[in-house]
Amino acid sequence: MASSKTSDDFARHRRSDLAGEITGVGTNNLFITNRLLTLINRVLEPNRALPAFPPELEARFEADMRRQRVRHLRRAILLGLVMVHLYGLSSFVADPDGAMPGLVLRAGVVTPMVLCAMWLIGSVDGRTREAVCGLGMLAAAAVSILTVILGGGPLESLGAPSLWLVVIFGNNLLSLRFPWACLLAVVTGVASLATVTLKDGATAPVSALTERDILATILISLVAARQIESAQRRGYLLHLRETLRSRHLVAENSALAQLARTDPLTGLANRRAFTERLDRLWDAARAGSPFALLLVDIDHFKRFNDLYGRGAGDACLRDVADLLQECAPRGGDMVARYGGEEFAVLLPGLDGVGAVAVAERIRTALEARRFPHAGRGDGLNHLTVSVGVAASSDGSPTPAALVDAADAALYQAKSAGRNRVGPIPAPPARDAVRNPLAAGLAAWSDPERGVARGNGGRRRSA
Ligand code: GH3
Ligand code: MG
Ligand code: MG
Repeated sequence: MASSKTSDDFARHRRSDLAGEITGVGTNNLFITNRLLTLINRVLEPNRALPAFPPELEARFEADMRRQRVRHLRRAILLGLVMVHLYGLSSFVADPDGAMPGLVLRAGVVTPMVLCAMWLIGSVDGRTREAVCGLGMLAAAAVSILTVILGGGPLESLGAPSLWLVVIFGNNLLSLRFPWACLLAVVTGVASLATVTLKDGATAPVSALTERDILATILISLVAARQIESAQRRGYLLHLRETLRSRHLVAENSALAQLARTDPLTGLANRRAFTERLDRLWDAARAGSPFALLLVDIDHFKRFNDLYGRGAGDACLRDVADLLQECAPRGGDMVARYGGEEFAVLLPGLDGVGAVAVAERIRTALEARRFPHAGRGDGLNHLTVSVGVAASSDGSPTPAALVDAADAALYQAKSAGRNRVGPIPAPPARDAVRNPLAAGLAAWSDPERGVARGNGGRRRSA
């Protein structure tokens, strides 16, 4: 049994909307999803270098990860600021005079800059945000180098290795994007080596060891930065791929579900969708909401095919389907192709009298179109339909019995000469042929109408 939503969709949507959902928007979404999946698979190829994304994926990565990234950066920056001040404090305790320039720089320059950067990164685009972080770390490195150069005494000179921390912090805690990580590593490395080499106070062997450690640390931090960013990007892509695949499946399933309930020729709901909706309306009727059913059959359609060909017959079926939809336009109404040249119309909220009025509207609307049908051999030369009406309020015990009742009414309309609405009152009133609406209404107010329906119908049930 299909979900109630699916069948309601048929009742709500017009034929063209359904076709649009299946062939238009849905297909477009599938196309976009497929293209993205291909792109992701290509980027995830084993030998492919990450962290480089093609522009389309990069834009999506930025859009999806932006909030998380900004939150991460702000937390890391705050931690870095606290560490900067703790370092300044410890230098001050060890050597108050030598640490003074550093303290002033930290308090007067670094802190306001950092606070500005924290605010800024939340309101600029991704590229600018990463540039702010990269430039901020370069500035932090410059401040540290100045602290070492300007600081007096051997202790501050030996503080040069603390520059490594700037690189480790920037590359690994802040997770600078890889190009910025490289720039920070190179600039800081060169500056550190120069500072250690040129600054008085460090002995040559100590300088050599320090330089070696600086280079090793920077290298390690760069490798780690690349691995961290690659893992992050790979994880993002794997997650995105799974999300897209499952969305793709859902979209395909819903397209298939709609196709399974659509008549391919007319785009109307098919017999399966009709039966599902009938069952639900039946349940609603038992809870007090009546509905009515019309069975609409094109008169002498076999002869139409014989005369004009099957292609013209198909076009004719489509025209009649359109017309039926125009005549049953309410949100809950459902027009379905019941089979061959027969259609079913479900009309929630209507009793027999209201349904006969709709049936007459359909019959007269088709007559008014004057679609040619020269081969019928009964004196008319245009297309007509006969309609059988049944209402849930008339006591049919099951949905199948209700369909039988409509079928029996249709049979009556056919037997009475076609191009009319059944049930036909028995005996037919004189003006029934001239005024079929009055006849139909009379039938529904005639207590004998049950007799006509009681013939058991002529064919099948739903
Ligand atoms: P009646 O007035 O008693 O309903 O006569 P009829 O000729 O309409 O009914 P009959 O059941 O004898 O023939 C139905 C015709 O509908 C025969 C069949 O070829 C045609 N038909 C059924 N499905 C299609 C279709 O999908 N396309 C076309 N072109 N014709 C169809
Ligand atoms: Mg038929
Ligand atoms: Mg027919």
